[in-house]
Amino acid sequence: MTTPGISILDGKYMVTMDLYPQQSKEFNQVYPFYENLRAGKFTTTRCADCGAEPFPPRVLCPECWSVNMQWVEWPTIGTVIELTEEVVGVPLGFGKPPLVHALVDLGGKKTFFVRIVNCNQGELKPGDKVKLAVFDVEPVPQEMGRDVKEIPRVFFAFEPVK
Ligand SMILES: [Zn+2]
Repeated sequence: MTTPGISILDGKYMVTMDLYPQQSKEFNQVYPFYENLRAGKFTTTRCADCGAEPFPPRVLCPECWSVNMQWVEWPTIGTVIELTEEVVGVPLGFGKPPLVHALVDLGGKKTFFVRIVNCNQGELKPGDKVKLAVFDVEPVPQEMGRDVKEIPRVFFAFEPVK
């Protein structure tokens, strides 16, 4: 992982600056979420006992404490309700400005706040359609027995439908 402008950190893995979770089965009980992302599916968990559908996915229902959670698919296309664009002071790790976030209505099923990528300043407006965008992130070094392996990772944002 490179840290632009901080040469002393070149080649070092900075866990405190890591924006993304560990995603392998050994370290994360919601790992199917990331496997589903790789397959282009946007998923979360639904509680089989009370019907709650929290996001991000959980192993324990935040409403009734049940562990009876099942994977469900959500739409991958949504509509922008409102948005923000940061053009200065974008934190390390988010790439070049603008850093766009939008409140997105996901097919009437859920409203949530999500990062928008592949989007120029001023390009996106309320009412526009956005779709799921899965991208690769830096692998994280993990100890597996005596070995240290780099585990590939992905994360999601949304992007304008063009
Ligand atoms: Zn529940």
